[in-house]
Amino acid sequence: MTQTSHTLIPTPRSIAREDHPISRKSISPGALRVLYRLREAGHGAFLVGGAVRDLLIGLAPKDFDIATDATPEEVKALFRNSRLIGRRFRLAHVVFGREIVEVATFRSNADDGSGDRETHEGGRLLRDNVYGSIEEDAIRRDFTANALYYAIEDFSVRDYVGGFEDVQNRVLKLIGDPEQRYREDPVRMLRAVRLAAKLDFSIAPETATPIPRLAPLLHEAAPARLFEECLKLFLSGHGEASFLGLEQQGLLAVMFPESAAAMANNRSGALRRVVLAGLRNTDARVAADEPVSPAFLFALLLWPAYCHALMGLQASGTHAAEAQRRAADRVTLHQLTTIALPRRFSVPMQEIWLLQTRFPMRQRKRVVRTLSHPRFRAAFDFLVLRDAASGSHAEDVTFWRDAQDDPDHALAVQQSQDASEDTEAAPRRRRRRRRA
Ligand code: ATP
Ligand code: MG
Repeated sequence: MTQTSHTLIPTPRSIAREDHPISRKSISPGALRVLYRLREAGHGAFLVGGAVRDLLIGLAPKDFDIATDATPEEVKALFRNSRLIGRRFRLAHVVFGREIVEVATFRSNADDGSGDRETHEGGRLLRDNVYGSIEEDAIRRDFTANALYYAIEDFSVRDYVGGFEDVQNRVLKLIGDPEQRYREDPVRMLRAVRLAAKLDFSIAPETATPIPRLAPLLHEAAPARLFEECLKLFLSGHGEASFLGLEQQGLLAVMFPESAAAMANNRSGALRRVVLAGLRNTDARVAADEPVSPAFLFALLLWPAYCHALMGLQASGTHAAEAQRRAADRVTLHQLTTIALPRRFSVPMQEIWLLQTRFPMRQRKRVVRTLSHPRFRAAFDFLVLRDAASGSHAEDVTFWRDAQDDPDHALAVQQSQDASEDTEAAPRRRRRRRRA
């Protein structure tokens, strides 16, 4: 495909109900109501985007988006339970209890001279609120697999860009000229990696090839948007695959420059192993419907950077506690230039790091204080990961696991162990322990 997204108006293809697996039973009741209602009012009404793609491969969609030729005002008038949102592009949200169905009017990327579409010199899209036809709506989307329309009028799937076949072949392909599409919106590079990880799709060669070269364009993306994208990359159950994809495409070094450098310089590979073990663990928690937290995630992703900064400060003679605080602050500050990690997550993230150095301290008073720290549980889970990656914290893990249930018992066990070590002639160790 060498044509640009503006000139490409492909031949539409309609896949009849008997030739695709999408059943109304797998569409949410709210989305079905909206589709039927729009149709009754004489409008075109289509399920679109991720939902169609997911249903075609047998996944349960996260949300059901609808596209129509009705304007947002017309949609609003049809549904009492709706509200209009968005300044840049107006959408209707139709609310059914806990379900929110997003209804968008077909729009176009084409510059119609109305001044409603502006691009940055680098090709980045700044505004794109121009209504359009369904074909135009299809080609402004990112991947062919995301540009399929399920029509409520005859239950067919409408394909304007070859997405149906690409879904069958499990391949992500950008619509239009890849380089131009990445320049318009660099976050599409992350979306390529994320969707490939989530769907277990490959990335088409022409879609993947420009990524390492264009990766630095991500510096132009809004840090708040990159934060949101990180949560989707790493906290949706496919974090490990996302990480490996980012690494492979040269995106990790742009998103997390200090961590990527620290991992590259870490000859034993232990730092990278901690991150991978943590992401695998996070994926398992998501699969088991257990809660996951952005603070823990970023503690993990920035751990290599923190360790590196800490070693540097300590080597230059900074006192341990001061070095820890400064390393934590420095790493956080530097990372904020790329990814807008909100304070409500960066503060607990730093606490998780700082608690790691408290684990070897076993005087009774300190043990009680560490146990009552609000971040103890997260910090302990973090310690378990570090041990899984290096095997060198087994004793700490055992102690703190016991101490959570019964601190006095754990301390007593520890004392008797120390005593027996002493009688086995380990006087130096004993002295060290007292000073700890
Ligand atoms: P997910 O399963 O993660 O929700 P999704 O494909 O539904 O994946 P959304 O972010 O919900 O992703 O976007 C909905 C649809 O909007 C996409 O399927 C795609 O058609 C379109 N879209 C989203 N982001 C972009 C983008 N950056 N450029 C072009 N089209 C986009
Ligand atoms: Mg979606």
